[in-house]
This record gives sequence, structure tokens and C-alpha cells, in this order.
Amino acid sequence: MAPRDKAAVAKNTLVDSVLKLEAHYGAPGPPPTTDPFEMIVWENAAYLVDDTRRRTVFELLRGKVGMEPEAIAAAPLEKLAAVIETGGMRPAMRAGKLRTAAALALEIGLARLREAVRSSPAEARKLLKRFPGIGDPGADKILLFARARRSLAPDSNILRVLVRLGFGREEANYARTYASAARAVEALLLEDVDWCVRAHQLLRRHGRELCKRASPRCEICPLTKACRWYRARAG
Ligand code: SF4
Repeated sequence: MAPRDKAAVAKNTLVDSVLKLEAHYGAPGPPPTTDPFEMIVWENAAYLVDDTRRRTVFELLRGKVGMEPEAIAAAPLEKLAAVIETGGMRPAMRAGKLRTAAALALEIGLARLREAVRSSPAEARKLLKRFPGIGDPGADKILLFARARRSLAPDSNILRVLVRLGFGREEANYARTYASAARAVEALLLEDVDWCVRAHQLLRRHGRELCKRASPRCEICPLTKACRWYRARAG
């Protein structure tokens, strides 16, 4: 098959998969926040809990402390830890990360951070990666949700689905697998950034609910026809 035909087939597979996931799960709701600093807080306030619990902790923090870096930096560590206690393991460590993030936001300046995210993705990526818990996947997600850069911002769940579908390859380490999948889909994304956000949300939900690491529920998955991983095992 000519390279251009191959790309058209791959794009069709990606777009069709997202459509099927939307038919299966329904249209995703709006993300809890699209503000860069609040997204950093969202990542650091909880650890290894589901989104419902994370949102509860996030809203508790908003109500009892506030979302401004000044408020988080000024809150006593013990108070922060108590407010976010139900967000998983090691609340004191998470509280420390929130304080570090707040101090860094004050040093950089929220206006500069937001402006970089809006208009200079390369500078924004460098700034964002200075915050605790934010690597390339986190920076990509913040840029995506701010509608500043199109991507699928694959977290570990999305990455697993993409690689199983045949976009990118499992490499020796996570960063290389991430880069491989991000490269594989880059030219296939629709121009509509809202589509990219929806695709991110749907692929992530699919990775968490059906396309699980140890035992994917292929028997009820709407993507079997397109899935390379499934076809290789179905024979
Ligand atoms: S068919 Fe199985 S492996 Fe493929 S996407 Fe669906 S759940 Fe994942």
C-alpha cells in the first residue's frame, strides 16, 4: 500500500475508533478544569484514586483553602494534608507537593504561565515540567485542555489502548513508548481541538474500564475489528 493510502487508513481507524467509543460510553462531560495551575493542583492533590474521589478532594481543597497559589502557599502543611487526606496514600507528601507547586507558580507568575500555555507551547512545556508530577504526558494534557496544542496527551491508559490498536510500539521504556505513540498519531488528528479533547477522554476511559493491562475485556469491546492486539490473539 502506498504511504499516503496507509496514512488515510490509519486516520480512518483512529477517527472510527473514537466514534465507536463515543457510541459505547456516551459523550464525555467537560473536564474538571482547563486552567494550567488548577490542572497541576488536580494532578498533585490525590494519588492513585479514581476520578470521582480526585474530584471530591479537588473541590474540598477549593472550598477550604482556595485554588490560588497564594492561598495554597500560605496554608499550614498540616491543614493542607488534612483537607486532602481522602485522596489516597501519603497526604503529607501530597500536601508538600502542593506547597512546592504554589511556590513555583508564585515565582513564575500565573499570568506568564497562562500566557505561555496560550501562545508558546515550547516555553510552556519547559515551565510546566518544573512542577511536581508534570512530565511530558502532564504537560501535553495541560496544553490540550487549554486548547493550545492538538495531541491525544496519552496517559498510561491511553497509551496502552493506542499501542494495542497499532499506533506506536511498546518500547524498552515508558518515555520511548510514549514518544512512539505520540508520533504515530500526530498526523492523524483532526484539526478540531475539541475532538482531540474528547478522543483523549474516551480513550482514557476505555483503558481504565475495558482495555485493562492484565485482563482486557475484548469480548465486550467495540474496537475488536480494528485492534491489532486482539487480531494477533484471535488467530
Ligand atoms: S479488543 Fe481488547 S485489546 Fe483491543 S482495544 Fe478492545 S479491549 Fe483493548
